[in-house]
Amino acid sequence: MKRIVIKVGSHVLTENGAIAKPRMLALVQLIAELKTHHYDVILVSSGAVSAGYTQLPLDRSQVANKQALAAIGQPLLLKMYQEKFARFNLLCSQVLLSADVFGEPEHIAHAKNAIDTLLKNNVVPIINENDTVSIEELVFGDNDRLSAHVAHYFDASLLVILSDIDAFYDKDPNKYDDAKRRVVVNRLAEDELNAEHTPNNEFATGGIVTKLQSADFLMKQGREMFLASGFDLGDVKAFLVDGEHKGGTLFK
Ligand code: ADP
Repeated sequence: MKRIVIKVGSHVLTENGAIAKPRMLALVQLIAELKTHHYDVILVSSGAVSAGYTQLPLDRSQVANKQALAAIGQPLLLKMYQEKFARFNLLCSQVLLSADVFGEPEHIAHAKNAIDTLLKNNVVPIINENDTVSIEELVFGDNDRLSAHVAHYFDASLLVILSDIDAFYDKDPNKYDDAKRRVVVNRLAEDELNAEHTPNNEFATGGIVTKLQSADFLMKQGREMFLASGFDLGDVKAFLVDGEHKGGTLFK
C-alpha cells in the first residue's frame, strides 16, 4: 500500500458560507476509489469554521469567534463525512492535532501508532487542527503546513493539496492572463518562499505561499507534493489512478 495524505482547503469545501456537499461527496468517492487502487489515505480537512458558521453566524474576523465556530462545526463536519463514507461502506475517524505535537518525538510516536492502527483497519483518519487549544493554522496556514507535517511524520510518500487553484503558476493566474503552469518543480527560491501570503477568499488563510513552504519542507525530506484543483478532481484522479500527469504541479 502506498500511504498518501490528501489536504482539502476551506475554499473547496465551502459554498456561500456552507459546506459544499456535492464537492465533499466527490472527494469521499475519490478516496474510496483510491483505496481500491492500493492507496492508504489520510485526509486533512478544513471546513470546521464554515460548518459552525451555518449554525451560529459569529464575526469571523475575531480569532476567539473562529475558535468557537470550529468547536461548533467540527462535529458537524465529521457527521457529514461519516454519512458520505458510509455510502461506500467505509468508516472514518477524527484525529485532532496541534502543531506542537510535532515538536515532541513521544507525542509523534503516540499519534503515529493511532494512525497506523486506523489505516491497518481500513479506517480513514480525518485530521484537523485542534483549534480550541492551538490557533496557528486558524490564523495562518489553513492546514497547509499541518498537512506537510502529517505527511512527513506519519510517513506518507506524497501530499496532495486540493485547492481553489489547479496548479502552481509562474505568477498569480487570478491576476495575470499570461501566467504559465509549472508542471514539475524541483526547488523553490527564497523569494518565492518568503512572499506575502495571498488568501483568495474570506475563509482561506493560506494562499500559495504556505503551499510552497509545505512543498519545500517535503522536498527536503525526500517526499513529494502534488497541487491540483479540488473543484474538478479529474487531474488528481488521472495522476493517482492512471499515472498520467495532465494538470496540476508535482513538487519532487
Ligand atoms: P485554498 O483555500 O484552496 O487552500 P488559497 O486560496 O489559500 O487556496 O490559495 C490559492 C490562491 O493563491 C489562488 O487562488 C491564487 O489566487 C493565489 N496565487 C498567488 N500566486 C499564485 C501562483 N503563482 N500560482 C497559483 N496560485 C497563486
